[in-house]
Formats: sequence, C-alpha cells, structure tokens
Amino acid sequence: MARLVMKFGGTSVADLDRIRNVAQRVKRVQDAGNEVAVVVSAMSGVTNQLVGYVQGLAALYDAREYDAVVATGEQVTAGLTAIALQEIGVDARSWQGWQIPLRTDDAHGRARIESIDGTDLIARMQAGQVPVVAGFQGIGPRNRITTLGRGGSDTSAVALAAAIRADRCDIYTDVDGVYTTDPRIVAKARKLDKIAYEEMLELASVGAKVLQTRSVELAMKERVRIQVLSSFADLPGTLVVDEDEIVEKEIVSGIAYSRDEAKITMRRVPDRPGIAAAIFGPLSGAGVNVDMIVQNMSADGTTDMTFTIGRTDLPRARAIMNEHRASIGWTEMLTDPDVAKISVVGVGMRSHTGVANTMFSALASKGINIQVISTSEIKVSVLIGAEYTELAVRALHTAYGLDAA
Ligand code: ADP
Ligand code: ASP
Ligand code: MG
Repeated sequence: MARLVMKFGGTSVADLDRIRNVAQRVKRVQDAGNEVAVVVSAMSGVTNQLVGYVQGLAALYDAREYDAVVATGEQVTAGLTAIALQEIGVDARSWQGWQIPLRTDDAHGRARIESIDGTDLIARMQAGQVPVVAGFQGIGPRNRITTLGRGGSDTSAVALAAAIRADRCDIYTDVDGVYTTDPRIVAKARKLDKIAYEEMLELASVGAKVLQTRSVELAMKERVRIQVLSSFADLPGTLVVDEDEIVEKEIVSGIAYSRDEAKITMRRVPDRPGIAAAIFGPLSGAGVNVDMIVQNMSADGTTDMTFTIGRTDLPRARAIMNEHRASIGWTEMLTDPDVAKISVVGVGMRSHTGVANTMFSALASKGINIQVISTSEIKVSVLIGAEYTELAVRALHTAYGLDAA
C-alpha cells in the first residue's frame, strides 16, 4: 500500500469523457489498496481563454483580479472530477486552495506556496475518501485568491505530496514521459526512463513545459519522487531521480525551447557605473524577470544593453523604461517579441568540453544567426529568430546524437 498524489493536466480533463477516464484510473489505483489524493488542472484551453478575457480589458491589469478570474478553471474540474468519482462509487470531495488551506505569498500571478495543512486531508484519505484538489491556486496573506504561475498545478501536486508525505507524485499528461526534446516538434525524440532532478530543473526552467520549474525545485528540496506518465496509455513513465541513480550519463540529455521571450535593446545608454542597476533595479522592483543580458563594448562613452524578459511582461517593461527614461538616460528603445531561446542541457557538460561549440556549428550550418548567448554549468542557451525554432531544435537533436534509431 502506498500514498500517492495523482495529478492530471489540462488535456487529461479536457471534456467529460476524459474526466470519466480520470475517475476510472483513480479508482483502479485506490482499489489496488492505495491512498490517493488527486490534483487537477483546468480543462485545456480554459486558462488561456480566461487570461485572454483579462488582457482584453486592460494591458496593465490588477494582478489580484487576474488571479480571481484565472483560478476558476480549476474550481470547475475539481468539482467535476469529484462528481465523476462519486458516480463510480468512490467517496470523493473537491477542495479549493483556500479550503485546505494552501497558503502562498502575495505575488499575484506567480505566487509561491508557503504552507499546506495536510492534517484533514490525511485523516480523510485514511478513511477512504479521495480529496480532489484544484491545482494552480492558493490563498494569500490578505485572504485573496492567488495563482502559482502558468503550469502551476504541477507545483500544487508536488507541494501536496510533501505535505501529506506521499510516497510518490504521479504527473499524468498527454505524453508518456520526459523526452530528449518536445516530441511534438521532433518525431525522433526519445523517451527517458530516468532523468536527474538537476537536469529536469534546468530543462523546465529553459522552457520544457512538461513540468513547471518550481515543481521540480520543490521536489528536489522536499525529496518528493516524481513520475511523469500518460493518462491515456498504460505505460511506465519517466522517473525524476538523483543523479547517482543514472548509470549511463549522456553529455547532453535534453534540448528545450521557449517562445515566451521578448528582447529589449536600450541603445546608447551612458557607459557609467550604476547603469545596469538603473535599468534592472526598476524592472525587478516591478517583478519583471530578466533572463539573458548582454552589454556591448563602448567606444564613445555610450553602450547598448540588450536583455530578454517574458513576453507577457513586455508592455510592463516598456512602461517602466519610459518612466525611468531620465534617470537611465536612454535615447532609443528597441523591442522584439519574435525571438526564441534554445537550450541544451546535460550534467555531462561538467566534465566535457566542446558542447557549446557543437551547438554554434550546428546552428551556423543551418544559417541561423545567434543573437544572445548564456551558459551555466550544465546548460548553454542561445537566442534566435522565432521562425527558426523547430529547425534549430531538430538540428541540435541530431548534432548531439539524440535521434531515436
Ligand atoms: P499538462 O496539461 O498535462 O500539464 P503540458 O502541456 O503542460 O501538459 O505539458 C506536456 C507537454 O510538454 C507535452 O505535450 C509536450 O508537447 C511538452 N514538452 C516539452 N518538452 C518536453 C519534453 N522534453 N518531454 C516531454 N514533453 C515535453
Ligand atoms: N491551468 C493552469 C495553466 O494552464 C495551470 C496548469 O495547467 O498547470 O497554466
Ligand atoms: Mg502543465
């Protein structure tokens, strides 16, 4: 007997038939003698639609009201899944974030979980009830509804697993595991039986949407075992494990892309001490996350500063740069939303050289221009024109010998 969290993503609860399928799967696992807690996402497409409503009314909207709107998708699926379970004779009830309560900080739209009280849930699970928890949402310090950032139901599931001391957190999705790259754009992507936490963390943070970055961070910290698997097939999935559990280490284990970036260049800003702080201070103060940064050589006392941010932050970032124009002293601002970040990740990079060069050569051979480069111990990322995304990912997948036979 084990205690398990089963998390179902948007495609797994996309309509009533799929919700019935989820209920059957949960029942099978419970019938096998396990205690089960379920976490659900909104039906696929619903969160995007809700975000669209908010953005349709205001470019710079009130983030607290954004959360009040976008958290509703999960309220619906939690209730529906509980009903579907009841219909097949499983004792179940839905839980909204605030009812548990799942407490977060007040960073609306990207809140962090601070605590989850698992006592009541554990007692009910022991009595045979299945809690169905609305993912993605919590309650902030001022009793307002918060959401955990896009893809946040994964984090709800891992945090819940830690709070109820579950033996494993199973993430059911529309692919049967973690692949060497997104199997939807590279037909030759290979499924991995195991992946190290650190690699999964890095892949998630550079855009592999299969798990939200924070869920992996949390799993690493709380030592939650994660399995990623399909909710449509009965196949073993991918286990996220410690690095020393992986016998055959590849130099590069995965390639990820992100089209959610935008590039900003501040032209001819004064090249003086404090200029980076003058630009990035106000952005970070407003919660705009800056990712890649390059500062050019200066010849005439001015320099160009190029950086990337999340594309949805572009209106906010522009407004902030306009507001601080005098203190920064910029003369021209160029923005480009048509960029993509491509990253190669692998713990083997620590002990091998030439990984970045393979990347640069492979991109050059396809005529793809690199705009910005950034590296970490186990990752190399480049910024390129968005139209080359798929070409670049496929070329790199082949160049690093990852293609399935
Ligand atoms: P869910 O709605 O279940 O949370 P997501 O759409 O958030 O599902 O995540 C699953 C998707 O992640 C897959 O459909 C796939 O296109 C994408 N993906 C990106 N990179 C990878 C990867 N390396 N391995 C598996 N899936 C990936
Ligand atoms: N429904 C939310 C989203 O689309 C959370 C999730 O699916 O994990 O971002
Ligand atoms: Mg997801």
